[in-house]
Amino acid sequence: MTYEQVEVPDEGEAIEVVDAKNDELDVPDTPVIPILYGDGIGTDVGPAAQKVLEAAANATGRDVSWMQVYAGESARERYDENLPEDTVEAIKEFRVAIKGPLTTPVGAGFRSLNVALRKTLDTYANVRPTYHLEGVPSPVSEPQQMDMVTFRENTEDVYAGIEWEAGTDEVQQVKEFVEEEMGFDDTIHDGPVGIGVKPITEFGTKRLVRKAIDYALERGRDTVTLVHKGNIMKFTEGAFRDWGYEVAEEEYGEEVITEDTLWEERDGQPPEDAVVVNDRIADNMLQQILTRTEQYDVLAMPNLNGDYLSDACGAQIGGLGIAPGANFGDGLCLAEPVHGSAPKYAGQDKVNPTAMILSGVLMFEYIGWDDAAQLVRDACEATISSKQVTYDLHRQIEGGEKLATSEYADAVVENIEQLA
Ligand code: NAP
Repeated sequence: MTYEQVEVPDEGEAIEVVDAKNDELDVPDTPVIPILYGDGIGTDVGPAAQKVLEAAANATGRDVSWMQVYAGESARERYDENLPEDTVEAIKEFRVAIKGPLTTPVGAGFRSLNVALRKTLDTYANVRPTYHLEGVPSPVSEPQQMDMVTFRENTEDVYAGIEWEAGTDEVQQVKEFVEEEMGFDDTIHDGPVGIGVKPITEFGTKRLVRKAIDYALERGRDTVTLVHKGNIMKFTEGAFRDWGYEVAEEEYGEEVITEDTLWEERDGQPPEDAVVVNDRIADNMLQQILTRTEQYDVLAMPNLNGDYLSDACGAQIGGLGIAPGANFGDGLCLAEPVHGSAPKYAGQDKVNPTAMILSGVLMFEYIGWDDAAQLVRDACEATISSKQVTYDLHRQIEGGEKLATSEYADAVVENIEQLA
């Protein structure tokens, strides 16, 4: 592929996909990895994460050949566009990439570049592991009980972008169709109305649930919980639940069992190493993550539930400065922190880069660099345990040392070198 807007580095080789469906990759010792710093604090946390990840790769006998790509503000400055084709193509070609946050204007203005990227790349599973690092202050008394991984469907639901603005001819047409042809008269109030559509497909649901179950089997997790609002939205969220159970019942052998079957046939005793699939209603789940934290493991859910629930899980383990994530397609990974571009802190060398660093951990695990991934995680934990922290954790810790973003990254690198 020839690029006009971005430069392919001289060093390094592309990661090759052997079997996309099963995420089987051929990874060279020095892979080319596209990196997109993003907007706002992206230019603070991006370089910090890059430095830490490179140190861990080097400490485990490898290297990373970074390829800078652009979107959002950085792309508008260079090319006068939001999401250049070359950025998308580079991520598609090199298969594994990491990005910082991108700003989305509220109400008017362009639509989310994050959503556009996820759709264009078809990274249909947004994965957010939530675990507690020792030393990180938390609003709950036993944060170490939190060890969940959320699988959020990334391409449909109300995020599909099918909506019509109040006052337009289009919204009037949709309203008339719904009321007159579909029989929902007296359902929508008179006066200005905005209308959106919530598609939940069998295809989208099943591939997401499959990824969650495969992950649970590979990583030795005990349960996969389908989180839905099927009691109210029967034909969308209810269908998500039903199709999720179909995957569990029809596509796996004895290693996957539903909670109902477990009680009907085995008196609640799962076979050894089996993954149990159950379901919970989303509002109940939001309190269960607080009251029965240790009972949950892997959670699979539609887009909007996943957005809310993963942030709520993140709050228990130190908040947005800590929470990592990654978007996965078939044979493709785009890692990104959960947090946004926090414009008020942009360029101040102040915010916490741990979320972006730990997103790199997910990326390393995806390419099979488990030793480098563990080293990064341990080094972050060692740094925070010694109370060397950025402002967000410093305000909650007594007697800590407040570091800038770049100083914190240097401290983590030092710990990597000591632990390696
Ligand atoms: P945000 O950027 O995540 O910031 C909200 C608050 O979270 C900050 O004010 C700060 O809290 C804390 N925070 C976030 N990142 C932090 C970090 N690295 N270290 C320490 N604290 C951190 O959320 P937002 O203000 O709602 O969104 C701003 C923009 O980001 C919007 O345009 C939104 O659309 C976009 N966004 C993008 C993504 C993405 O690119 N994936 C995700 C979410 C939001 P305190 O001020 O209390 O310290």
